[in-house]
Amino acid sequence: TYVVTENCIKCKYQDCVEVCPVDCFYEGENFLVIHPDECIDCGVCEPECPAEAIIPDTEPNLDNWLEVNRKFAEIW
Ligand code: SF4
Repeated sequence: TYVVTENCIKCKYQDCVEVCPVDCFYEGENFLVIHPDECIDCGVCEPECPAEAIIPDTEPNLDNWLEVNRKFAEIW
């Protein structure tokens, strides 16, 4: 799955939401999140993000961003 991270906070772009084929972006507090169970790992959103906030969960140093994405995605 892909994960939205810190750089997304207060970002005003929504380019990622528009390209996602499965609509798995959701609103966090002041950032977007990706539902980790709905993301099909296509990678289309990653280059679309001007803030470079979207990274695959295989990256090291994700801290707790995967859990944060899940938490806010599951509210909806
Ligand atoms: Fe959507 Fe693909 Fe990005 Fe996952 S990797 S959030 S399915 S655009």
